[in-house]
Amino acid sequence: MKRGVLIVLSGPSGVGKGTVRKALFEEPDIDFTYSISMTTRQPRNGEVDGEDYFFVNRNEFEENITAGNMLEYAEYVGNYYGTPKSFIDNTLASGHDVFLEIDVQGALQVKEKMPEGAYIFLTPPDLQALKERLVGRGTDDPEIIDRRVAAASSEIRMMSKYDYAVVNDEVQLAVQRIKDIVKVERLRVNRILPEYIAMIEELEK
Ligand code: 5GP
Repeated sequence: MKRGVLIVLSGPSGVGKGTVRKALFEEPDIDFTYSISMTTRQPRNGEVDGEDYFFVNRNEFEENITAGNMLEYAEYVGNYYGTPKSFIDNTLASGHDVFLEIDVQGALQVKEKMPEGAYIFLTPPDLQALKERLVGRGTDDPEIIDRRVAAASSEIRMMSKYDYAVVNDEVQLAVQRIKDIVKVERLRVNRILPEYIAMIEELEK
């Protein structure tokens, strides 16, 4: 069975990862399995437990860390966010593509463990636009926004660790670029070679 492709969409907070991810999943030809993260942050209006996130308290999160259940986790602006591990392993092994949308610290931890993934950095056209987006969202108070902007500026330098950069100037364009990246990823020799090795072994029997 051919393994699925791990696609990691990451980038600074406020760049529009969530919006791009939602638009991507509305495309009719997209069949990725979304990895639902766990977080200790409070649900925002309209967010659903088990859909947007698994919302847990700090104790529960720390128990999961201790039990080795997290592929990665990060503490971001006072809350834990993390990716449950077994779901990803099982989904990839069953041949389905897994899509992660996580912050920069988390993505780099995943890359250490799973370098075969496609690591996409979503970047704002400029930093002013990023700040306006964080303010415009209206969901966080000013002190949190300032911390998010400061975190974003240092995170942009981490782009060098990624495989691809996608500018989020326009959501539909960003979606198209991500789809193009995934098409190319499927053609990588290291995804195709194992099938041919198996065929050669069969021939040589
Ligand atoms: P928010 O509170 O706006 O939903 O998310 C804050 C940040 O945490 C965003 O940059 C988001 O991408 C990131 N995030 C969401 N899930 C995860 C996760 O599982 N692991 C990590 N490391 N970051 C995450």
